Amino acid sequence: MTAVFPSLQQQSDAQTKLVLALPKGRILETCDKVLEKAGIRPEPDLFNESSRKLRFVTNHSELDVVRVRSFDVATFVAFGGAQIGICGSDVLMEFDYPEIYAPLDLDIAKCRISVAEPVATAGMDDPSTWSRVRVATKYPNITKRHYATRGIHADVVHLNGAMEIAPSLGLTRQIVDLVDTGRTLKANGLVETEVIHLISSRLIVNRTALKTRPEEIGNWIARFREALTTP
Ligand code: AMP
Repeated sequence: MTAVFPSLQQQSDAQTKLVLALPKGRILETCDKVLEKAGIRPEPDLFNESSRKLRFVTNHSELDVVRVRSFDVATFVAFGGAQIGICGSDVLMEFDYPEIYAPLDLDIAKCRISVAEPVATAGMDDPSTWSRVRVATKYPNITKRHYATRGIHADVVHLNGAMEIAPSLGLTRQIVDLVDTGRTLKANGLVETEVIHLISSRLIVNRTALKTRPEEIGNWIARFREALTTP
């Protein structure tokens, strides 16, 4: 019978290998160049989002890549399941994990996190007179902090996607989400009313791993830093 469980050798390889966590979706689509410049060539299936595989080898026997949801990159790195990762600054701001160190702005997947609302209600009244507002978002912490600085209590409806339809379905007055070209807002009858933060992707590392494996992780930070200056 074929062994189902990994051998002791495989288990020890899995523990000593460094793991780089990458997010599915827009960031993954734009990070192939920076990976290439840093000398990382993952197996091609990484970029095939219909592949069910989650872990991929690279041209470096000591480095594997895992492909996870963008919010989960930060969680895997914070808990040490992955030692390094590439993660949007939106996710870092939302979670604010003390275990994560973000040494490099990779200047990719640039967008903004903004407030938007239906064209029909935008500008109808003055938000500075509001005491509370209902807002749909997948960023409850960023959202609450943003409105609190304006003296407004945000009643957050926490969605994981498709928040653009929340106002038209009567769930909320506004939404807070990532905006790049603005096409998604436009297609759903919304208009951007305020930019909260400009967003880009960062290289992130687990602070404990950086202390216990300083040479390996320091080497990868240096490679990514160099990649940023490579034309
Ligand atoms: P757009 O129509 O180009 O403004 O893109 C907006 C949609 O894409 C929203 O659903 C966003 O959540 C998503 N989006 C835009 N930029 C990014 C990014 N850098 N990372 C992840 N999702 C993004």
